[in-house]
Amino acid sequence: MGKIKIIKGDITKLSCDAIVNAANSSLLGGSGVDGAIHYAAGPELLAECRILGGCKTGQAKITKGYNLPSRFVIHTVGPIYYEHSPAEAESLLTSCYKNSLNLAKEKGLKTIAFPLISAGVYGYPQREAIKVAVETMKVHQGEFDEITLILFGAREFGMAQEDYGEYVGGAGA
Ligand code: ADP
Repeated sequence: MGKIKIIKGDITKLSCDAIVNAANSSLLGGSGVDGAIHYAAGPELLAECRILGGCKTGQAKITKGYNLPSRFVIHTVGPIYYEHSPAEAESLLTSCYKNSLNLAKEKGLKTIAFPLISAGVYGYPQREAIKVAVETMKVHQGEFDEITLILFGAREFGMAQEDYGEYVGGAGA
């Protein structure tokens, strides 16, 4: 069984087979983690994204990682929380994790790291977003060597310590 790890930090610094980007549906760059990933990867990432023709909410597409330490970037589009009912938003956010993991599996990738999708400008409540992330990771745990949830802010990292302490810092591996 692969392990699930929750850490605090900057996803652009990780060396995994793939990191996941919380993109918008144009895939042409945005703020938050999307901006940080494009900045660190360099302009070739945007050039590859341009030919992908966007991505629907809940779906995922893959590119190379260019100047990032990670080999690939999986771009997924989270729901804008207030555009959906809570149940619909949860189902779309679950699809982001599931479809990203399915794509990684198809490519034979073994280590993958996620930011907390939708929980920034897209407004998904952070504690609930952590739950969707970890519960979906658990379902697919056996298909990977390591799935990491990397949290940027102290607030959401504290929530993860409270709710999923067994995974924090790789403990229990
Ligand atoms: P969304 O539009 O899906 O809400 P955001 O980029 O606004 O995406 O936020 C998603 C999460 O990514 C937030 O929890 C934010 O704190 C976090 N984040 C921002 N920059 C980074 C980074 N460099 N590494 C990891 N997580 C980040």
